[in-house]
Amino acid sequence: MLLIYCPYCEEERSELEFRNAGDAHIVRPANIAEISDEEFEEYFFLRDNPKGLIFERWRHIHGCGRFFNAARDTVSDRFYKTYKAGEPKPDISTLLPAAAEPVAQDHKLQEQTAQEQTPQEEGFAK
Ligand SMILES: [Zn+2]
Repeated sequence: MLLIYCPYCEEERSELEFRNAGDAHIVRPANIAEISDEEFEEYFFLRDNPKGLIFERWRHIHGCGRFFNAARDTVSDRFYKTYKAGEPKPDISTLLPAAAEPVAQDHKLQEQTAQEQTPQEEGFAK
């Protein structure tokens, strides 16, 4: 069962108590009566659907009932951080320290890992 940390209740609770409420940090245009239909469509309807880290609004609907924000990975479903509504978006580099490393180092690491695993796999087969 997935546990989600509610920043208001200050405890992890079952995912069944929460409901996703869409993207976080969507800023309402100050001059909304004056923007074009295309600009309103962009603001109101269109959302990115990235693979990986996203920032979302969640509601502790079967708990305190309050909205909060979360940084979540869409692939692993891991919650990196939850924080109260109105707080600034957390720095991505603090959430994903590996993302700041150059890609070339990742390839070296993967090659080393593959070489280290090969003898174990051969030994396992015998
Ligand atoms: Zn709560």
